[in-house]
Amino acid sequence: MLIRELLHSACLRLGKVGIEDPETDAALLLGHSLEKSRTALYLMGGESISKEIEKQFLSLLQRREQREPLAYILGVQEFWSLDFLVGPDVLIPRPETELLIETAIKAWRESSQPSGLILDLCCGSGVIAIVLAKELGRKILAIDLSMKAIVTARENAKRHGVSHLVYFLQSDLLSALAPVPCFSLVVSNPPYVSQQDIEGGLQPEVGRYEPHLALNGGDKGLEIIKRIDEELRQRMLPGADLFMEIGADQGVDILSLFAEEKKRTKRFTELIIEKDYAEHDRIFHAKLGQ
Ligand code: GLN
Repeated sequence: MLIRELLHSACLRLGKVGIEDPETDAALLLGHSLEKSRTALYLMGGESISKEIEKQFLSLLQRREQREPLAYILGVQEFWSLDFLVGPDVLIPRPETELLIETAIKAWRESSQPSGLILDLCCGSGVIAIVLAKELGRKILAIDLSMKAIVTARENAKRHGVSHLVYFLQSDLLSALAPVPCFSLVVSNPPYVSQQDIEGGLQPEVGRYEPHLALNGGDKGLEIIKRIDEELRQRMLPGADLFMEIGADQGVDILSLFAEEKKRTKRFTELIIEKDYAEHDRIFHAKLGQ
């Protein structure tokens, strides 16, 4: 079959099952099978391909037809203009997390750059820790509950030349660390999807394929964030910054959660919610009081 014909029929098949941009996905899958760029592929439209490559392509196409995310089929996702390895043990990094990192880096560069440790909490594939290590040239501690995620994140750190800067630790949030103040910057993309959405409100790509451990934030999606609030206060240095990715409708709840005074001696101040490109609540910034 000619490349052009194959692309056309693949596109129809993906369109039929509701894939949003079937042309792009068909071209990326065929490009992956042929080890060619998308542009090269279009220039080769009149050429035919071997039976073997066609068979390989059709098996990838079938996976996408069943709504497996493209990034898992290709094994990589571009983030911060770098290719990161991804698989079913880690969440696929999204553009919102680039915004989170951009915001944290900007604040860091504008601050007096304190000497405390930098933490990526719930690191998943390692994108936050790795980008921070590359951009800031500083040592980063990256924590995740999933050892399988850490294996992928380690590979990514190696791939991007920052293995010597990123230290990975398997821990249930901060339970493996003594409650001693040591962090001056914490950046986190924790699980924040509500149990309700997990049970029925997600696209098939997300709900069926991405790890629920990385997504499920329990009741209102706030259960893990509540624990982070409690556990972080004791481990952040006075004046330290927290930047956390949150759900589109969580701004108000998170502001009131972190502003609660109760009997705490350590208080978060300067609580800010920033919006993403779609004007949704997305980034929470707080500073620990002096
Ligand atoms: N951005 C992801 C989603 O909406 C959620 C990520 C997370 O829970 N940290 O599917």
